[in-house]
Amino acid sequence: MSYKALYNKYRPSTFEEVAGQQSIVRTLRNAINSNKIAHAYLFCGPRGTGKTSMARLFAKALNCEEGIGHQCNKCSNCLALNSSSHPDVIEIDAASNNGVDQVRELIDQVRYLPIKGRYKVYIIDEVHMMSQGAFNALLKTLEEPPDHVIFILATTEPHKVLPTILSRCQRYDFSKIDDNDLKAKLLWIAQKEGFAYEEEAINEIVSLADGGMRDALSILDQALAYGNGEVNEKDILSVFGLASSKEKVDLLEKIIKGDVASILKKEEEFVNGGIDVKRLCSSLLDILKDLLIYKSTNDEKLIRSLKKEEAVYLSKLIDKKKINEMIDTLLKTQFEFKTVSNVRSLFDLTLIKMASVSSLDNNERKDQPTNTKQIPINIKKEEETQGEIKEKEYNPDTNEKYTGNTVPSFLLENEEEETQPKEEEKIVIPPKKEEVKKEEEKLDTSLIKHSSIALDGDKYELSVDTIVKIMVLGGKFKEERKALREKWSRLDYLKLDEKFGDGATLLSEGKPFCLCKDAILINYAFTRLANKVNVKANQDTLEELLQTLLGRKVFIYALDRDLSNKVQNTFFNSQQLNTLPKIEEINLELPKKGE
Ligand SMILES: [Zn+2]
Repeated sequence: MSYKALYNKYRPSTFEEVAGQQSIVRTLRNAINSNKIAHAYLFCGPRGTGKTSMARLFAKALNCEEGIGHQCNKCSNCLALNSSSHPDVIEIDAASNNGVDQVRELIDQVRYLPIKGRYKVYIIDEVHMMSQGAFNALLKTLEEPPDHVIFILATTEPHKVLPTILSRCQRYDFSKIDDNDLKAKLLWIAQKEGFAYEEEAINEIVSLADGGMRDALSILDQALAYGNGEVNEKDILSVFGLASSKEKVDLLEKIIKGDVASILKKEEEFVNGGIDVKRLCSSLLDILKDLLIYKSTNDEKLIRSLKKEEAVYLSKLIDKKKINEMIDTLLKTQFEFKTVSNVRSLFDLTLIKMASVSSLDNNERKDQPTNTKQIPINIKKEEETQGEIKEKEYNPDTNEKYTGNTVPSFLLENEEEETQPKEEEKIVIPPKKEEVKKEEEKLDTSLIKHSSIALDGDKYELSVDTIVKIMVLGGKFKEERKALREKWSRLDYLKLDEKFGDGATLLSEGKPFCLCKDAILINYAFTRLANKVNVKANQDTLEELLQTLLGRKVFIYALDRDLSNKVQNTFFNSQQLNTLPKIEEINLELPKKGE
């Protein structure tokens, strides 16, 4: 007999066997028992959280011969469902190429009565991937579904499903599966399958799976294959490039003690051993979380990543406040991983920073009555607060090259920060008195003639070459750009303004990325917003608004995340190759108004 993947073998066969998602199970059951069955359901949630399994269970409960709501797993309907061969339960993967044809075909079939069961159940997976045409066809059917038809749409990205579809479905949001539920399921399977395992190994699997049952079971499959039918921590660590928990605790201890040299050596070893830096970062977070829990409760039953002895030992070295600071720093780094190209440099920097702050605490805090809140959560402020680890600003004048050893400011001052709470910057650098005063000043809007913001329309498009030229020219305007950034929050005062609110809100969502004499590039986290800024009809309004902060009019161009990454890569590559245009040779051609 061929090997059956654990995920398929141990799919729940009744509602009782479902791991997690208890409120959804209860609601679906109640609906069936009280005969309030809707014709369309939307199951949303992260991958591997049991959406399709739940859909099949629901189909089973609707069609079991023992009666509606039953899942006997003995009758021919249940058995057909278990072997995925029920003629009335049709699964479609909208992500596959033939999705469209399948949807069309199914819609032709909808009007025929079920062959075997009570209901025809259509399960459409990854429904957000469906083409417009298929969507429309589906919509028609959803409007007036025959009584015997039930649709269950599943998606990991509900925001991509058309509102007209959403409004016709009962929506259920699946959450990530709780670690304890995952672990219980793994242990249950271990017992059923009768394989030997180390508890640490199971914990590692749970942590790797990140709330996804499918991931947990496929990792278990791999571990079993690798370990010849046994599940060992050592195997999992080596297959998935992880550090052992002892090594991680060791690293943390070095950080707490501020031993920078050993930290770097250890990190080097990790990286040479193929250990994934991002994963290491989240493991450190897990450990710190445990430490915080242990320090607050003294209850070893509540901790998962640390052993009791480790928790006891580490908790003597560090106070809660420090743990919180480290957690903040690591979370920030985790966030920034998405925006930098050299993940390892960023992680190095984070470790050094945590360690140096640590040693500052141990030795110098008494001499320096610095508010600990100033400890830079924000790497890019390092320069201004500590002066130890300097970021590298790109500098076309000196033709300084990006070596990859430090994180250039371009990469850090990136779009993702926009979604961070604004307060954070204030925590990092306490504003000087005069700045506070300036902040309170309202913007002078007397010169603004335009105020309308169009949602859509013809857009300006700058070539990558032109953007790179602006970046080169921007080298001389760094100070002005910095000052502008500090003033940026003043746009908030206009957000509620009846006339200028739309424009101010739109601008304030962005982050000035590069400024030169005639143009400004603004980064946006969302393409939708960047597009709106680039609508030609909005240029006048935005230019005039920006003038209130900048004192002059410049051409405004918005970059979304993809474009921003692209131009930064181009910039650095050209810099490496020495092919950046020279400032004096640049002839910047910006689109003329009305073109
Ligand atoms: Zn049955």
